[in-house]
Amino acid sequence: MFKRISMTMTVVYGLIIIVTIISLDITFIYAYQKKLQDKNESKNVTYGNIISNLEKDKFEDLLLLNQSMRENSAHIDGRVLILNAEGIVLADKYEADLGKKIKNNYINQSISHGIETIGYYREGTHRIMIVSTPIKYRNMIEGAAVISVFLDSIFTDIQDLKKQLFVISMFASIFAIAFSFYMGNKLSKPIEKLTKATEAIRLDKLDTRVDIKRNDEIGKLAEAFNQMSTQIYNIDITRRRFLSDISHELNTPLTSIKALIEALIEGENDIPIYKEYLRDVNGEVDRLSILIKALLTITRFEDMEIKKEPIRIYNEIEAITRLFYPLLEEKAIVLTNHCDKMLMVEADKGMLREVLVNLIDNSIKYGNEKGKIEISSDNNRILTIRDNGIGIPQKDIPFIFDLFFRVDKSRNGDTGGRGIGLYLVKKIITLHGWDIQVNSELGEKTEFIIEFKQ
Ligand code: ADP
Repeated sequence: MFKRISMTMTVVYGLIIIVTIISLDITFIYAYQKKLQDKNESKNVTYGNIISNLEKDKFEDLLLLNQSMRENSAHIDGRVLILNAEGIVLADKYEADLGKKIKNNYINQSISHGIETIGYYREGTHRIMIVSTPIKYRNMIEGAAVISVFLDSIFTDIQDLKKQLFVISMFASIFAIAFSFYMGNKLSKPIEKLTKATEAIRLDKLDTRVDIKRNDEIGKLAEAFNQMSTQIYNIDITRRRFLSDISHELNTPLTSIKALIEALIEGENDIPIYKEYLRDVNGEVDRLSILIKALLTITRFEDMEIKKEPIRIYNEIEAITRLFYPLLEEKAIVLTNHCDKMLMVEADKGMLREVLVNLIDNSIKYGNEKGKIEISSDNNRILTIRDNGIGIPQKDIPFIFDLFFRVDKSRNGDTGGRGIGLYLVKKIITLHGWDIQVNSELGEKTEFIIEFKQ
């Protein structure tokens, strides 16, 4: 309706409150007026009955009737008339209309039907109520006692009440509107903050956070927003680091290739030297190709959907061991599979194989000649791959799963390691909601412990 929630709330709640106040005012005034009228009516009906009882037997003597009626109606706050059955005034408290014939429907009805009638009418600016009570004597309707009262005081009271109610209602409405505005602002301010923050994120200011501390839904939304923007920020940092690491890794072999080619172009060498240089170039191209293949594997896994199926770990390890047989033979390493044959996990077969291949490959690569690799399971949810190879220094353990991290670059020279395998392992483990830990002692052992959390 409006562009701002505060305005919508002010108008909507303001209107609701004002309509409610007006309805309450009208109901209250109407009920008050009705109460006063009812009270007045019943009071004057009672007076009419008293007068009619006291004066019913004095119709023969008009002087006595007038005198008695004036005495008996002295306390009545209004005019009192006694009429005969023809509507002629026999007695008048104010002595003004004696002998006059009064034509009035209420009075006529009261006399002809023998009932009390109450009527209201206006005389100029005055409002008047008349109460007509039939006078019955010896089973005959002799006439009527008529009391007429000015209602001006009642209406003045109601007018005063209306004024007071108007002032109170005005203050209540102003307060209600101000309060609605305040509440609307309280609601729209944080939403505005969140909108601005979202816009800032859209404009790449990824470190934007909102400072909203509330215990309600908006507070939770702000908290979720901050968590989301922190996550986006971290993803962005990782992406940048990933890109810079990749550029660096690609640049190194390219620089060597360029240097080798330049040397070939500038030098006047014999064929054997050319061949030697070209072999080096070929080696660097191989490194590049391994690197690019590994990067392709990473991106493939990043986009891949996990298709889980039940897998028997024991069998999987047996199958992988067969693949590594030539390498194990070459280093005379003994690999033993102590895994529980019953251990089953829900996993993506391709991804699980990638994890096991990488970990076993590392154990062989960094294992000693004539060493051993032991693979065991525990409690049906822990898998340990242990080797007694060169180990990993404690200071490097926190970075072991980082992309392109290699413990000591020089020692990886002959293994062809690029620091990608464990990064991929960690990624797959996280994708499955599992956990992986490393324990290692330099020159003693290295063990990777996977916890399958189903
Ligand atoms: P790489 O291709 O270099 O092996 P990884 O990501 O698989 O890359 O491993 C990262 C580094 O961690 C390796 O370069 C190696 O230094 C160290 N590492 C991994 N596994 C072992 C292990 N079983 N024993 C000793 N060092 C290991």
